[in-house]
Amino acid sequence: MTLDLETFAREKDVKYFMISYTDLFGAQRAKLVPAAAIAGMQQEGAGFAGFATWLDLTPAHPDLFAIPDASSVIQLPWKKDVAWVAADLFMEGEPVGQAPRVVLKKLVAEAAEAGLRVRTGVEPEFFLISADGAEISDLRDVAEKPCYDQQALMRRYDVIAEICDAMLDLDWKPYQNDHEDANGQFEMNWEFDDALITADRHSFFKFMVKSIAEKHGLRATFMPKPFKGLTGNGCHAHISVWDLDGKVNAFADDAMPFGLSAKGKTFLGGIMKHATALAAITNPTVNSYKRINAPRTLSGATWSPNTVTWTGNNRTHMVRVPGPGRFELRLPDGAVNPYLLQAIIIAAGLSGMKTNADPGPHNDIDMYAQGHTVTDAPKLPLNLLDAIRAYEADADLRSALGQDFSKAYIKLKHDEWNAYTAHFSTWEHKTTIDV
Ligand code: ADP
Ligand code: MG
Ligand code: MG
Ligand code: MG
Ligand code: MG
Repeated sequence: MTLDLETFAREKDVKYFMISYTDLFGAQRAKLVPAAAIAGMQQEGAGFAGFATWLDLTPAHPDLFAIPDASSVIQLPWKKDVAWVAADLFMEGEPVGQAPRVVLKKLVAEAAEAGLRVRTGVEPEFFLISADGAEISDLRDVAEKPCYDQQALMRRYDVIAEICDAMLDLDWKPYQNDHEDANGQFEMNWEFDDALITADRHSFFKFMVKSIAEKHGLRATFMPKPFKGLTGNGCHAHISVWDLDGKVNAFADDAMPFGLSAKGKTFLGGIMKHATALAAITNPTVNSYKRINAPRTLSGATWSPNTVTWTGNNRTHMVRVPGPGRFELRLPDGAVNPYLLQAIIIAAGLSGMKTNADPGPHNDIDMYAQGHTVTDAPKLPLNLLDAIRAYEADADLRSALGQDFSKAYIKLKHDEWNAYTAHFSTWEHKTTIDV
């Protein structure tokens, strides 16, 4: 039975609902609706002018209606008067094909038709920086190897514990928080779940981390490579596929190398085959390519891949199988759209399962030290334009995510690339002035 939001408001003392949707660039858009008006909005949706957000719509298009999915509702732990609820976009009664949550729901339904339930966990790293964005917020956080720095972690206890307490209250089952590999960088982990639940939580997590950081006079950034020379913000995804009851993990097989089943290997085969194209989604910004193709960082490693290879428990490859029954995709970064991340994983994985795709042999070298010796594996795109073109050339992925989505995404990302190249940089001036 659908949860009645008006009753929810009465029971929880909620005064306002944020009816929220995520556009193609990952921006969360919302209307703040008083509880007195929520009953109508739950039926009809909140109205938006699509052109005003990143969806490739024109000013002449009819209104969008964001219809809340009541099962996703969350009372804001740091502002109890308000509840957030994820919405699906409709226009003239039809789902909007390019809306990221609509795209993901379609792929979840396709997996279900094949008797599969994709369950994932994400690790969205972030920096706590100064409110003006210029530098990390803790000027004493300068160690060369700052990962797990106990002292620096505890200097941010008030922020980190407030976020973790919120996840405990929400029953996300958080289990660890740490200082990550860059000065000023943190990671907080909670338990994996169904792809749509993980996508909603990933969205809400970003909103929550930014909001709680702001409350403490700081700013949180998920930008892929905010500071030159420091490790960037990854957003690794851990992936497993289960039966519809969620009882049997189809990726688990103790008799196979690393405990990854034959089925799991075909799903992985799909990820490997489509890797260069799916980077257009997992690494969606100009800045993303400064993370995956980075020179060695201050800590000694970038912790991000630049080649399409897979391995066992070795963090220098694009895909790691850390233990039986799942694998980790280390490619995505902090800019990834939470819904499109899950959608592209399912699309590439299902394509691999359908075609019995072979991921090829695993590779167990230290890629950071010996990557140059690997000559038979594709390189990941060197920039956003390469990635968009790879996506454009991948008919399987384009149709799996839907033509409405793919057309809009490719167009807006080309526009973004063109805006970037039209920008005059100081580097260009300095290196070209005396030609
Ligand atoms: P690491 O830093 O070693 O990559 P983390 O502990 O930071 O790992 O994150 C692991 C993520 O993987 C968590 O979200 C966890 O719940 C998730 N995970 C664990 N087992 C599975 C599984 N079988 N399927 C999908 N995700 C899983
Ligand atoms: Mg108006
Ligand atoms: Mg982690
Ligand atoms: Mg990490
Ligand atoms: Mg990881």
